[in-house]
Amino acid sequence: MSAIRFEPSSSLKPKPDESNLEFGKTFTDHMFLLDYTEGKGWHDPRIVPYGPLTLDPAAMVFHYGQAIFEGLKAFRSKDNKILLFRPDKNAQRMNVSNDRLSIPEMDEEAFVEYVKALINVDRDWVPSAEGTSLYIRPFIMAVEPCLGVRASKQYVFAIIMSPVGAYYKEGIHPVKISVESHYVRAVRGGTGFAKTAGNYSSGIKAQEEAKHGGFAQVLWLDGKEHAYIEEVGSMNIFFKIDGEVVTPELNGSILAGVTRDSVIRLLNDWGIPFSERRISIQEIYEASQQGKLEEAFGTGTAAVISPVGELHWLEHTMKINEGRTGEISQKIYDTITGIQNGKLEDSYGWNVLVHEDVKV
Ligand SMILES: *Cc1c(COP(=O)(O)O)cnc(C)c1O
Repeated sequence: MSAIRFEPSSSLKPKPDESNLEFGKTFTDHMFLLDYTEGKGWHDPRIVPYGPLTLDPAAMVFHYGQAIFEGLKAFRSKDNKILLFRPDKNAQRMNVSNDRLSIPEMDEEAFVEYVKALINVDRDWVPSAEGTSLYIRPFIMAVEPCLGVRASKQYVFAIIMSPVGAYYKEGIHPVKISVESHYVRAVRGGTGFAKTAGNYSSGIKAQEEAKHGGFAQVLWLDGKEHAYIEEVGSMNIFFKIDGEVVTPELNGSILAGVTRDSVIRLLNDWGIPFSERRISIQEIYEASQQGKLEEAFGTGTAAVISPVGELHWLEHTMKINEGRTGEISQKIYDTITGIQNGKLEDSYGWNVLVHEDVKV
């Protein structure tokens, strides 16, 4: 790995009010950039002042959407350590996405080192108020100027960072979700398992319609039969049915969430009956009718756990746990956020130390 070049910003921005952070609106003083050119590989890692990128209008990403991204968080513990949550999982997944989009592989250890280096430069931006964190957004785009449909021969890898508040200011609370029966997010053989921009652009219309209907998100069904549950918005989904927790199996059209993986580890360790399998919306509806649909929650880096209080499917309304946060949902939320911010012992070795303030 070549040394990272550092060009410090000459004018540092004021830090935002920690009690009023909006998700992804404010960015830190610096960003990380790395170039790829065919024949030369990934080169010139550098940390530069945060600012606009200049790209050729023929840059392939604008036309054919060859772009992938990641999302992870860093936390400031009470004893002033800066901790990253499972960055190795994001590095692995980025290469899964790269492979699907024909983007060249990146060194996974280098990825983690680049993230740490940028956090270290902007470490004063890691907030300390309860529930806050630094959201980190690595992404790759095809920048070769060429209007030909093929893999680009040039790419830029970038990392930007944004201090964010607790997703739910008054603690987690259940949301209303609409089951999408018209649009689909992904099909098997497509790009559903990759974290690519295109998966989102095709889902925005459904999300807008759901918002108009008063729903927080859509729950996607499979692209072929419109019968099986996939995921919800930018989160994976879990249900508790008659004492057993279930989540859709990774079938090629679902994103393998890091939070999903962490939740599964906890459930198994706690001895809670759990399975990964195909789940039809009909099964969820019947469980609800029989009073056996006990909890439902989404999992993702941004919210960690997002309980579902109500599901709408066709003409049916399914109320879950009387619209209250379920016991397991709450316990998982408390455990994962407790590990992330250093309040609970990290018995899984999930945290990676970025920086430790030494007391004198
Ligand atoms: C990022 C993402 C998730 C959640 O993944 P985490 O690693 O837990 O943040 C789930 N579904 C989709 C579609 C995503 O893009």
